[in-house]
Amino acid sequence: MITIALSKGRIFEETLPLLAAAGIAPEEDPEKSRKLIIATNRLDVRVVIVRASDVPTYVQYGAADLGIAGKDVLIEHGGAGLYQPLDLKIAKCRMCVAVPAGFDYAAAVRRGARLKVATKYIATAREHFAAKGVHVDLIKLYGSMELAPLAGLADAIVDLVSSGGTLKANNLVEVEEIMAISSRLVVNQASLKMKRALLQPVLDAIEGAIQ
Ligand code: ATP
Ligand code: MG
Repeated sequence: MITIALSKGRIFEETLPLLAAAGIAPEEDPEKSRKLIIATNRLDVRVVIVRASDVPTYVQYGAADLGIAGKDVLIEHGGAGLYQPLDLKIAKCRMCVAVPAGFDYAAAVRRGARLKVATKYIATAREHFAAKGVHVDLIKLYGSMELAPLAGLADAIVDLVSSGGTLKANNLVEVEEIMAISSRLVVNQASLKMKRALLQPVLDAIEGAIQ
């Protein structure tokens, strides 16, 4: 049996064509079903639906053999116990620093100001600002980062951006790109050894379907 950990939403949607290339089709839509374990057309493959940030944990401990997770999530997780063979080039966006329009970020950095930065991505943000020599107090949030500067919680945020529409709607501007983000296939290291005959054809088919 192969268990694949996926999150609902964009990752599930964008993964469907890759699974199809491997001859795998989930039998239910997680947006409609409340089931957390979804059967597929293949008796030996099932999908488990977990929070995006929990995917690496399921794969690390072998509760899932495969998973698909954003680079943002993998960096925060640390990647222990995970083999990361493929960049799937799906769920593309970028991680960036954003501030309220009118806040002179460059000037604040130049004068060595200590900035309050709200983010879900503490590890990535810590490394980014440390490398630049910018002094920051990091404030951990779990969502709606855009609100933090507007409500006076922080001077800046580190968040994922794709179109920039949410930033714009909240009068924020992107001042620094930290990194490009896409989702990767992650594989449990023990599964890869023990279930190689079952997994390798799936990995090969997915690799062949990457755009
Ligand atoms: P949760 O909703 O459970 O808190 P989440 O918000 O991280 O988790 P999604 O919004 O489905 O879950 O994001 C899943 C992954 O998709 C992210 O980890 C990231 O890699 C990528 N992603 C996030 N936002 C965007 C975006 N606007 N455009 C493209 N990809 C994105
Ligand atoms: Mg989300």
